[in-house]
Amino acid sequence: MSEAVTDAERKMQFLFALRSHGVTDPKVLGAMEAVDRAPFVKGLFSERAYEDMPLPIACGQTISQPSVVGLMTQALDVQPRDKVLEIGTGSGYQAAILSKLARRVYTIDRHRRLVREARLLFENNDMHNITTMTGDGSRGLPEQAPFDKIIVTAAAEDPPGPLLAQLAIGGIMVVPVGQSDAVQSLIKVTRHDTGYDYEELLPVRFVPLLEGLGQDE
Ligand code: SAH
Repeated sequence: MSEAVTDAERKMQFLFALRSHGVTDPKVLGAMEAVDRAPFVKGLFSERAYEDMPLPIACGQTISQPSVVGLMTQALDVQPRDKVLEIGTGSGYQAAILSKLARRVYTIDRHRRLVREARLLFENNDMHNITTMTGDGSRGLPEQAPFDKIIVTAAAEDPPGPLLAQLAIGGIMVVPVGQSDAVQSLIKVTRHDTGYDYEELLPVRFVPLLEGLGQDE
């Protein structure tokens, strides 16, 4: 009997791990089944792409744990007509999932190299509704605001004010909040016509949201 794990088995285990962590929305599971994580991981660690683990990527950053990607996507409740802003492109994996669910995705990272590599992956995988940009995402993208959904995949001490301002009425933002060297809380912010509601979802651990551009060119 062969001990080799087949692709089908690996995929089943991947989806099982997502479900057992509470990712139950069929649309989110469908999007995550449709996007192969391996090309986003690259290099040495790509063999481990189907494990439910964060993994290192270029520029000292990390691709998030799939179940956390799933839970954040689920919390955003993405609708087919939504315009979504992501801060922290990283590998591009989260943006790729969002691109399957939303009308348009804007994603910003402070590292030029990560943006360049993610853009190539989006082009090669026919993900034409993603716009990638280099910049300090904590300022948001005022020229395209308001956004129906905003996802921040780096930890801030507080939800950045410009992002709150660029959220549409009725819109949702998910953002990890807390000190970068401690466990952070994933917060869901919902904007109403009179203000904002905050809900704490789960403990998470993300790299910090930093000011300015990355230096590693
Ligand atoms: N969503 C990514 C994981 C992101 S890791 C994925 O699916 O792979 C966090 C990313 O946030 C890093 O790539 C880091 O460069 C970026 N980042 C940190 N501070 C930032 C800022 N102010 N503006 C834009 N990107 C930022």
